[in-house]
Amino acid sequence: MNQIRIGAFISQRRKAKGLTQSQLAEKLGITDKAVSKWENGRSMPDLSLFMPLCALLDITLNELFAGECIPEGKLKDKADEVLMSVITNWLGQDKCESRECAAEPQTVLEVVNVSKQYETVSAGCEAENHSVFAVNDVSFQIPHGSFVGIMGASGSGKTTLLNLIATIDKPTNGIIRISGQNIVDIPEEDAAEFRRRHLGFIFQEYNLLETLTIYENIALALTIKEISKEKIHPMIQSLSEKLDISAILDKFPYEVSGGQRLRCACARAIVADPDIILADEPTGALDSHAARQLLDTFSILCRECGATILMVTHDVMAASYCDRILFMKDGEIRTALNRDRKSKQTFFADILKKIEWMEGERYDVFEVINP
Ligand code: ADP
Ligand code: MG
Repeated sequence: MNQIRIGAFISQRRKAKGLTQSQLAEKLGITDKAVSKWENGRSMPDLSLFMPLCALLDITLNELFAGECIPEGKLKDKADEVLMSVITNWLGQDKCESRECAAEPQTVLEVVNVSKQYETVSAGCEAENHSVFAVNDVSFQIPHGSFVGIMGASGSGKTTLLNLIATIDKPTNGIIRISGQNIVDIPEEDAAEFRRRHLGFIFQEYNLLETLTIYENIALALTIKEISKEKIHPMIQSLSEKLDISAILDKFPYEVSGGQRLRCACARAIVADPDIILADEPTGALDSHAARQLLDTFSILCRECGATILMVTHDVMAASYCDRILFMKDGEIRTALNRDRKSKQTFFADILKKIEWMEGERYDVFEVINP
């Protein structure tokens, strides 16, 4: 897929339809600048705009991606070729294939027969007590250095499970070990200290402190760990080079772009070398470009900084960056998928198939997962 060619094609079709850039932008509910960027080949329309754009320019989706009008006869030949290049482009090039695991990586997180039952009182003539298993007898392990995703429909128990691992909530049954320590035993008053020392969090809103510079925001995670000033400086320097934020360390969060803020939040989550980084729907509020940036950063954190990441997501694109996906339904982990050495594109297709299978309710062929 050639972005410049597509841009030129959009421009040509727009003019053929007698539209100015502003008129096209207005019809699509976007800025003139966005249209101009596409036409210069500097960006691609967001996924959500593909169909309305094609309708306005009176072209097919295949023609849009081919950057030319395709004669009827050739349509079929071109279709597969174009579609594959779209998927590749959308997901990005597979720079780093799934790693070959070193012999026996250490287990960072171990979840053993964990359940969480909530008592709920439903209003009515007579108040009735119900209990729901938000998490129901879940077991799995996460080895050091892996990037694991949890997928499942809304209400399937993903956030509850993450909160149990984050020591924010306590399980009704089961054991959760982080680097060998059973966190279920940690008294409430020690939980905050445990989180600071052992866990990293990435929130949707990034939670950067606006009155501190980017450098100070990252350093904050280290001062909590009582690391000396002399050691902090080189740690932040080397990490910010990896995440491409060296040039903005002295700026305040409001002075930098969304993507840079995001990378700063990632730097802060990883700098103190937590045992595991937890992220709940981190791409939920992002456009596709920013989401890809974040996921590329996660991959760098795992591959180059030895981070272990557990991410809840319902976005297949985000999930395709993971090494392993756990699929939840009604509080249970129903099945799992390993990326192994598959490309991101193949893994993406596998995840889609698995979701289809989950939604098909065909649990009679229940797969036993191998934790
Ligand atoms: P997800 O993150 O997958 O959308 P949740 O973990 O938030 O799912 O919720 C799983 C189930 O547990 C839902 O049925 C939800 O209503 C219930 N639940 C979650 N938190 C509570 C709570 N504090 N009290 C009672 N029920 C809860
Ligand atoms: Mg949730």
